[in-house]
Amino acid sequence: MKSTIDLRNYLQRIDGKGYKAYKGLSGRYEFPKYMLLVDHVQGDPFAAPSRVRVRVKREASNIPRDAIRNKIRSVAACDFLTREFHRQCRVHARGNRGTGKSGLITIDKPLQEILERSAMVIGPAFVEARFFMGLPARGRGVSGKDARAMFFEELPRIVEHALFMENLSASDLIRHVETAEDAECVRSGLVGMNLVSFVGDGSLLPRASGIDPGPLEKSRASLFQSPESLRVELVLPNRGKVSGMGIPRGITLIVGGGYHGKSTLLNAIENGVYNHIPGDGRELVVTTSGAVKVRATDGRSVEQTDISPFIDNLPMGQDTRSFSTRNASGSTSQAANIMEALEIGADALFMDEDTSASNLMIRDVNMQRLVAKENEPITPFIDRVRPLFIEKGVSTVLVMGGSGDYFRVADHVVRMADYLPMDVTREARQVANACKDPRQSEGEDRFGDFRGRAPIAGSFNPCRFNGKIKIKADRLHEIVFGQTVIDMTDVAQVVDTSQTRAIGYAIYRAIQYMDSNRSLKEVVDMVCADVDNDGLDPLGPYLTGDLARFRGFELAAAINRMRTLKVRQLDPVS
Ligand code: ADP
Ligand code: MG
Repeated sequence: MKSTIDLRNYLQRIDGKGYKAYKGLSGRYEFPKYMLLVDHVQGDPFAAPSRVRVRVKREASNIPRDAIRNKIRSVAACDFLTREFHRQCRVHARGNRGTGKSGLITIDKPLQEILERSAMVIGPAFVEARFFMGLPARGRGVSGKDARAMFFEELPRIVEHALFMENLSASDLIRHVETAEDAECVRSGLVGMNLVSFVGDGSLLPRASGIDPGPLEKSRASLFQSPESLRVELVLPNRGKVSGMGIPRGITLIVGGGYHGKSTLLNAIENGVYNHIPGDGRELVVTTSGAVKVRATDGRSVEQTDISPFIDNLPMGQDTRSFSTRNASGSTSQAANIMEALEIGADALFMDEDTSASNLMIRDVNMQRLVAKENEPITPFIDRVRPLFIEKGVSTVLVMGGSGDYFRVADHVVRMADYLPMDVTREARQVANACKDPRQSEGEDRFGDFRGRAPIAGSFNPCRFNGKIKIKADRLHEIVFGQTVIDMTDVAQVVDTSQTRAIGYAIYRAIQYMDSNRSLKEVVDMVCADVDNDGLDPLGPYLTGDLARFRGFELAAAINRMRTLKVRQLDPVS
């Protein structure tokens, strides 16, 4: 291990030399209060910034044992430290010190969710932050003076304020940890209460704006209040007794006038598969981890997906039990999205009329008269939603303000009025029963069996033209995988670019499990089990602090959207 004097001397020696001289910085340095580990040095000031770690002894850091006494607490404690580290970078790093990324000191920035991340580790012996530094350039050369300021003034301040309990708020840390633990406790209780989701009374659901996932200003928001009939009470380990709306398993319709908060409620519920930070407003909006939001995405490619429960008898005799297209329509894409979620084991589907193909959702009585069933390939979701629940146990929560036909098939109807929910199940049923001329059901009673698909390893190529592996994700909804770009714009439940990046690497890991017999579900489950057992670090090609935990559904969604994908369809399984 090298000393701080070695570092100082080295920076002095290379001052003004070509930028490549920084390469010699790699290694470990003993600072008074921590160890600095320079893992990778960038090749030029414009390249991806250098990867650096800082390790503080556990006793010195003094993180309370209680804050990490189980997995969920420990994930939340790491999340807390990462946020603090990020904040301190903004306070203490001067930033711009020349060309390119010169002067940058930053760590992966968490948003509203508390996710497991590779950015921070609290191990038995030390606390380790993995972050990024843009080593400073003057012209094309090393700026030793700026580098010295970064390593000897800025970084020590950041570390001092972010990783030592004496400078952190213990009560904030505990609140963070307890908030996550309570949410997790709600989630594990949902099954026993026969619920898909729980929306706590007093929750603040609307977001600050379409591009800001933080909460809407409190003075401008109506806080959530459950209708009496759907209210459940829970006792949480930290917060104690709470109440809120339980969305029962089965079929739940969210209706109401336009702009009355329907989509906002559904968005909060779909996001409830993740835990949220204190102050987010959705700390007590919690959803079963098997819930998948689906929508229409015309233009996506589909590879041998069985969409026959929804679509049959296509023009030109196209087979819908093994449906492939490079350019799906609204309805076929949504049918594929549904079937692919079921294939991976979704136990609840969420859909919003705003983003659904209306012809997949509904065919009303007038249309049934004008266009006979024989001439309509689509069996609408309304005729599938009950068999899906009764036969397969898959619940549906559907936002539908534009058609009352669903009243007949819904178990519960919630009406949003002025952002507040009312239980209108009884009224909706009366309306449906009073209708003298209802639409006819068009589906069979059986939903049918799901067909697995075995992905073919040879259809995945992580290499660029030059044969080098290239996997990257710099945007939330886009993965560059070799020469392929995977568009995940419609995948609502990826919430963090670091998840997207991890999914990119996870695809690469998944290839090694593909043997033309294992189903996509099996492959995805194997990758997720690896991450459960070994954490996120082994996914990356090198140790890097910008990976975050993702779900198997989103990994599968990425693979399904890869335009080069080839699969072998397997025999149906019931
Ligand atoms: P809908 O889907 O019923 O048409 P939205 O959910 O899109 O309505 O909400 C319409 C607008 O109202 C959005 O700008 C949203 O942020 C805002 N909004 C939703 N819920 C609330 C609430 N509880 N308090 C204040 N504003 C809200
Ligand atoms: Mg809406």
